[in-house]
Amino acid sequence: MHLAAAFEALAATTKRLKKADILANCFRSLLALTPEDLLPAVFLSCNKVAENMEGVDMGVGGSQVTSAILQATGTKPEQLRRLNRSTGDLGDAAQACKANQRLLASPKPLTIRGVHDALLGLARDGGTGSEGRKVAAMAKLLRACQGPETRWLVRTLIRNIRTGATLLSVLDALAAAVAIHTLSSRSQGRVPVERIAAPRIAAAQRAVRDCYNLRPDLPLLVGALIEGGVEGAVETCTVRVGMPVRPMLAKPSTGVEDLLSTLGDGSFLVERKYDGMRAQVHVAADGQVTIYSRKLENTTAQFHDAAAAVSAAVRSPGAGLIIDAEITAVDPAQDFRLLPFQMLSTRPRKGQQQQQDVSAALASSSGTTVEPSGAPGSVAVCVVAFDLLAYNGAPCLALPLEDRRRLLAEATVAAEAGRFILATAETGEQILRFLHESIAASCEGVIAKRLGRGSEYVPGDRGSAWVKLKRDYIPGLGDTFDLVPIGGWYGQGRKAGWLSPILLACWDPDSGELQSVCRCMSGYTDAFYKEMTAFYLEGNRTLERPPSYVSTGENCPVWFNPCEVWEIRGADLTLSPVHTAALGKVPATVGGSKGNGGKGRGCALRFPRYIQTRQDKGIEDATTSNEIAEMFCKQAVRQGTS
Ligand code: ATP
Repeated sequence: MHLAAAFEALAATTKRLKKADILANCFRSLLALTPEDLLPAVFLSCNKVAENMEGVDMGVGGSQVTSAILQATGTKPEQLRRLNRSTGDLGDAAQACKANQRLLASPKPLTIRGVHDALLGLARDGGTGSEGRKVAAMAKLLRACQGPETRWLVRTLIRNIRTGATLLSVLDALAAAVAIHTLSSRSQGRVPVERIAAPRIAAAQRAVRDCYNLRPDLPLLVGALIEGGVEGAVETCTVRVGMPVRPMLAKPSTGVEDLLSTLGDGSFLVERKYDGMRAQVHVAADGQVTIYSRKLENTTAQFHDAAAAVSAAVRSPGAGLIIDAEITAVDPAQDFRLLPFQMLSTRPRKGQQQQQDVSAALASSSGTTVEPSGAPGSVAVCVVAFDLLAYNGAPCLALPLEDRRRLLAEATVAAEAGRFILATAETGEQILRFLHESIAASCEGVIAKRLGRGSEYVPGDRGSAWVKLKRDYIPGLGDTFDLVPIGGWYGQGRKAGWLSPILLACWDPDSGELQSVCRCMSGYTDAFYKEMTAFYLEGNRTLERPPSYVSTGENCPVWFNPCEVWEIRGADLTLSPVHTAALGKVPATVGGSKGNGGKGRGCALRFPRYIQTRQDKGIEDATTSNEIAEMFCKQAVRQGTS
């Protein structure tokens, strides 16, 4: 009940500071009263039951959750359908069903850890008859729900809780709770905690974020915080071979000049930006290789041939290595020519629907050699290594990039051409020439990386030490956008029966909102239209009303349950009265905009075109409103309107 009440309060406010207080207070009281509930509460606040690396999947779909609601509340299917349509949310609908229910005896109250254990139990239950058992287990939980618990349990089960809390805000709240708890137990009430807490809280938040970036392992982090406070966590959460590190990211740039000014003074390296999937490769002392994706999921099974290539390339792992790399598709029949990213998605992904544009990608790349050593029917891959995070079992993140690259070269050897290579890189300022060469070699562009001071590997950071320049910078914007489909219109003429256009949104981490930025109706193939329309309309992914965390002035006939990210290329950004992207974030002096706050206009992307679906990104990895505001400002500078 404690957590459900906190979720109710979170959903009722859009104020970031208030949200932070609500969560921190919730965690603080758990710390003081039932610390064993803290980890489950942190997981549930992030709408997770375990870390991605554990590969835990509750394995329940919308229809099973619906069956459980019907069983637990005795509601008729038609009535639940009606409620779902009118509320636009299965959790709200279940809450309404439950409110009409009279129970003879009240069941034992739920505890946070009891719910979390039960959810893990769903994940563990597989094989014959598991579907029925899962429905029964969910119905049991739903019967025991009191007050608003039903809404939050159902939203958790359909993995869409939408409290507006993000991983970062949960970590910040956790740090604040621990800092205040530590201070108040040390001062035993002699010093008013509120008077001294603010700087300590800020320091604790930085430390906890760093801990999680180095070692994204909530059980370890929360355990260490309970045991030893923030100092304890800093000591415990260190890099270890076998455990993923959050990857360092690159800042986008709009051209060579912009890239150079972002990098700042000092020397740098320019590397090819390969068009594949991020792979963090861990080589244990016994030679065992584990590969983690950008989302830190264990993808070793999907890329066992890449793992074999790394095994062959490592001279000796010593006490263990962590290599940062990109896995790219290659064609062995054509001298390991690099292939586009889409070819990689033809590889089967555990528990995930095949990427929708696979057929289009396959059709456009006929003649490509299929690799016998990969999963059936999959293309060959090459591991392109570009950084080293641990050498001989010890972290080397703090070394300058040139030293990490040297150790990487010493630790590995290109054993078999085209299976494992070091990223092509060069120093010097001939960026434009290098960009053209990279594009000619089928790369996406280049990444310039600072050398020497300030070039350490900062997990999870998208700072100015790595700056990317993509091939599309030449005609207009420097980068593509990763946007979330939030709704659509029914197509006309040739497109009748399909959804077109589609309304797309960026992610605003400050408010937890998806803010609309454009309608997109180009770049889709007919096959994609068909699959995408079926995905939303027949896949139970539509709503009657936009979810509360969607912000737009558009009014679509079909609203989506936002669940995926599309890469979109556009011409330029303008201001719009209907779109809300980056509303209030463009300063008054820019682009003749008089700012875009208050009743002003949001940013809109002109001439958007679908490129591909980003299976490797979640909604919170979409382009942010802050990035859009920054791009709008840079564009205004280029156009001389600021
Ligand atoms: P994008 O949409 O550009 O792929 P992203 O958000 O996935 O962006 P960014 O940090 O913006 O990630 O771009 C860096 C990505 O580029 C890395 O995650 C990695 O997958 C890929 N990449 C390819 N070549 C390199 C390289 N030489 N160094 C670092 N990253 C590289």
